Amino acid sequence: MLKVLKFGGSSLADAQQFAKVKQIVESDPDRRVVVVSAPGKRSKEDHKITDLLYLCAAHIEYGVSCEKIFDMIRRRYHEIRVDCGLNTDIDKDFEQIWVHMQHGMAREELASRGEYLSARLMADYLGFDFLDAALWLKFRFDGAVDKEASYAALRRAAEGRRVVIPGFYGAMPDGRIRTLTRGGSDITGALAAAALDADLYENWTDVSGILMADPGIVENPAPIRHITYSELRELSYIGAKVLHEGTVFPVREKNIPLNIRNTNEPDHPGTLIMDSFSDEEDNGSLITGIAGKKGYCVVTVAKTGMSSESGVLLKLLEIVENHGVNVEYIPSGIDILSLVMAEEKAQPCLYAMLGEMQKAIQPDSIKVTEHMAIVAAVGRRMASRPGVSGKIFATLGENGVNIRMITQGPEELNIIVGVEEKDFAQAIRVLYNTFMKERKL
Ligand code: ADP
Ligand code: ASP
Ligand code: MG
Repeated sequence: MLKVLKFGGSSLADAQQFAKVKQIVESDPDRRVVVVSAPGKRSKEDHKITDLLYLCAAHIEYGVSCEKIFDMIRRRYHEIRVDCGLNTDIDKDFEQIWVHMQHGMAREELASRGEYLSARLMADYLGFDFLDAALWLKFRFDGAVDKEASYAALRRAAEGRRVVIPGFYGAMPDGRIRTLTRGGSDITGALAAAALDADLYENWTDVSGILMADPGIVENPAPIRHITYSELRELSYIGAKVLHEGTVFPVREKNIPLNIRNTNEPDHPGTLIMDSFSDEEDNGSLITGIAGKKGYCVVTVAKTGMSSESGVLLKLLEIVENHGVNVEYIPSGIDILSLVMAEEKAQPCLYAMLGEMQKAIQPDSIKVTEHMAIVAAVGRRMASRPGVSGKIFATLGENGVNIRMITQGPEELNIIVGVEEKDFAQAIRVLYNTFMKERKL
């Protein structure tokens, strides 16, 4: 049995956190491959190492000295090394990085040193081998990960060994270091798990799993025990940010379960993410989670006989696409349809698009609703049980939330409502309270 583990920045913030990681890894001999982020914040006011490295890069770009910031970074690692009782020779690394920075070190390479040094220390601390991600995580020139080459290289390098791998970066075909997007160590972990055909990918962070709603809106939301890959995709797409949204694909392809765990509460089972769950594993709640986002606008086009006129939707979508805007949802009636778009993208070209729509479709009316928020209730169990949408509408209505739009995905995995931005938090809270009351705990 093989478990691949990824520890996020808060799990590596100082020596105390390093000790928790060691205990977790050593408590299970199957935990043989460990991916680490760069040290994160020790408190709310603290800084993430990666942010400091980007700050150094910005100083260099504008020719301003970054010695003080670089020293802060150096001190963070030194403190961890000393407090963990390690002799890892990171002084030489810091010297080399400093010299390289004076001679134009690329921004991505500099940013990658956060995880590189973190992995060096952790490998020493655990007594595992350090395995540089640049040796196996290979990008193509277009920036996409070359999965086949990466998987083969990692299998060759890690088979049968206990290793610590730095997250967040890999190498281009010409050997240059390239980073993933922010939060990308989640992806490194998923790729490593897939490459090695792991039995489990454990993602260790600072919350006891994915919560049913944003903790910033709902007080103390319940953790989700089980969630499918598809549900997680829906929730993270619409706003629940715990994992990098690219994490699911590599593990899903290989059907590797993903377990989100809390380094500060290691006995909590966290959230398990798989393709499907048997009935007895579900807790009876009709919905799995609620998420949402503000900042949408809706263009509603009405025309008598629209449904029998071919190509109306195609023409509308073409116009929007030509302006580089994505349509997120398309709720529709017989002679009416709406295009829901991110305001940030649509706003600058809104009047141009409306003009083109008027000309191309000659509708009876075009209406624009701005400052909308989208709230989605996501749940695999909604499909088999009637009355969920009724309950959502009644709950929102009773609590004075005006529903401006409704749509549901064809696989009935979600129900999405559009509300005014001022009602956004209230909508999430009342939906959460209603569905929580019904769980058979
Ligand atoms: P790591 O450094 O371990 O990668 P992140 O900061 O990237 O951790 O992600 C974990 C954070 O995600 C939590 O501390 C929490 O504040 C935030 N978060 C946002 N929405 C949710 C949610 N629905 N459930 C759990 N955590 C959430
Ligand atoms: N350290 C990187 C970041 O802050 C990558 C990660 O933590 O996953 O984005
Ligand atoms: Mg993260």
